[in-house]
Amino acid sequence: MHYITVHDKTFQPFLSEMEIQGAVRKIGKSLNQDYKGKQPLFIGVLNGAFMFCSDLLKTVDIPCEITFVRLSSYDGMESTGEVRSIINLQEDIAGRDIILVEDIVDSGLTMQKALTYFETLNPKSVAIASLLVKPDCLKCEIDIKYCGFEIPEKFVVGYGLDYNGHGRNFKEIYQLRQE
Ligand code: 5GP
Repeated sequence: MHYITVHDKTFQPFLSEMEIQGAVRKIGKSLNQDYKGKQPLFIGVLNGAFMFCSDLLKTVDIPCEITFVRLSSYDGMESTGEVRSIINLQEDIAGRDIILVEDIVDSGLTMQKALTYFETLNPKSVAIASLLVKPDCLKCEIDIKYCGFEIPEKFVVGYGLDYNGHGRNFKEIYQLRQE
């Protein structure tokens, strides 16, 4: 088993590059069907979703735009449960079909707060695409229309996801090692 160390923690392989790319292609295929004839605006949530956004957009073949925002609610390995800020949305999203692209949904509070905020800007529709969802951690009802993997309640890093700033650069996803 190829363990990795990030800061003081050891992680074990969880999702391979092939599994991730397969899931990304599947989401892209659904988006191409569902948004045919529309021109969606993808809103990538930085920093974590940068890799997912990049790979996902390569599988999308309908006319579309992409922009990025930053929402912050996480501190180390704990979700603080509050969105501290939504930074950088310069586009006018009124009347647009929005697809929020997120790396992982844990408590769901970040996405719920983001949805509430985006809805005040009167988009035509808002859907969420998240590569990972931890169903056992959800603290609110949230519709994740496009989901790559449902995963257990364990901290993961890699493929854009960090542990205190490190570990985003891996092509694979690693899970906190069983003690
Ligand atoms: P939520 O508000 O759904 O609890 O948290 C969502 C955010 O927490 C994600 O965008 C991500 O940045 C961070 N997060 C949640 N779970 C994990 C995890 O297992 N690993 C990492 N690296 N970040 C996580």
